[in-house]
Amino acid sequence: SITSLACNVKSSSSLSFCTDCCWRASFFLPSFLLLTCSLAFFSFFPSDEGEIGYYTRRGGVGEDFVTSPEISQIFGELIGIWYISEWMAMGKQNAFQLVELGPGTGTLTDDILRVFNQLASLLSKCDVSIHLVEVSPKLSAIQAEMLTGGKVQSNPENKSAYMKGISKTGIPIYWYRDIQDVPQGYSFYLAHEFLDALPIHKFQRTEKGWHEVLVDLDPEVPDQLRFVLSPSRTPATENFIQPEETRDHVEVCPEAGVLIQRLACRIEKDGGAALIADYGHDGTKTDTFRGFRNHKLHDVLKAPGTADLTADVDFSYLRKMAEGRTATLGPIKQREFLKNMGIDLRLQVLLQNSRDSATHEQLLHSFDMLMNPKKMGDCFHFFALLPHHRVVHPTKKDNPQSKSPLPPVAGFSELSLT
Ligand code: SAH
Repeated sequence: SITSLACNVKSSSSLSFCTDCCWRASFFLPSFLLLTCSLAFFSFFPSDEGEIGYYTRRGGVGEDFVTSPEISQIFGELIGIWYISEWMAMGKQNAFQLVELGPGTGTLTDDILRVFNQLASLLSKCDVSIHLVEVSPKLSAIQAEMLTGGKVQSNPENKSAYMKGISKTGIPIYWYRDIQDVPQGYSFYLAHEFLDALPIHKFQRTEKGWHEVLVDLDPEVPDQLRFVLSPSRTPATENFIQPEETRDHVEVCPEAGVLIQRLACRIEKDGGAALIADYGHDGTKTDTFRGFRNHKLHDVLKAPGTADLTADVDFSYLRKMAEGRTATLGPIKQREFLKNMGIDLRLQVLLQNSRDSATHEQLLHSFDMLMNPKKMGDCFHFFALLPHHRVVHPTKKDNPQSKSPLPPVAGFSELSLT
């Protein structure tokens, strides 16, 4: 419930601090409970132990929520095939980086690497390296164990990476805290359930124009937080609302916008592609901010700093952020993407390969979780950034008959590995 136009907003200057920088948050820590703050700033609320940021401390995957790669190996395998299919369609370059943002437990990368290994004959002349962007020390240790058996080197020389190792299949893996640290070059990017974890701003349209939804101490109830509306426009209302916005309530994730701009710049300059998968909508939903703790919905204002705070990804906003630099495809529903990638066939193969009824049951159950429209099938979406030339021939506009058709992009159309 939002207290309309609350007049007890103590410091509108706090809004200028609502960014992604932990050092800024720590600087203002003593004032945390004295300031009214944006949701983006609130996402860095310290735990009782004083650590800032849910992901730098807890990690969450498996503890508070479960993700598709944790549910079924097929998910990661089909994504691995997507990258190979795009690498082939774009001319089989002799090297590529696979860059994963927020790799969780490392399961998704592990499944992708298994596919790369199974299709080693295709990739034999290609120099593949893995680059993981991860802020959680706890999760990077879990990833290192999963992918390398724990044999990693910290702070390798001459590298912007904070850790380095070699996968069980012999592929070099590097860890970074920020996408900016990942070397430039021909790369395929992956962000699965990453963007939804980034901090958002929330806005509401009123008769007097746009106001930001802020978090404040409830003066009536001790130790209770509440939502309030900013009494006037804030720097965020000035900067983050699109002029053509028609909704009355919007959530904007500027950090996701900056990230998409960075990926689009890299793809425009060096080539490659980005595959983004998350729960989200195409600019239609309004109020999706929520918390998860121990696999249950959790009141975002209760025990701050201890729950996974998340909001649906607005793909229409991402599309705008990539505009001009790359082409975009999607969002397409997860069940359609996985069907196009051949999930039915892969399930049949796995069922045939196993005689054990418990495994059969588990395979069918996890297939249902991923594909059922009422489970993950309809709410999760896939979205891709691709160089313009991958989708439209440069000369096509002038002379539509000039070249053979471009191969369709798998997932968004049916897979054909030719
Ligand atoms: N992609 C994984 C896990 C998703 S959970 C899966 O599908 O299973 C979100 C992941 O992003 C976690 O690994 C978390 O530690 C990481 N993360 C969250 N915020 C981050 C940030 N700002 N920079 C880098 N990694 C981040």
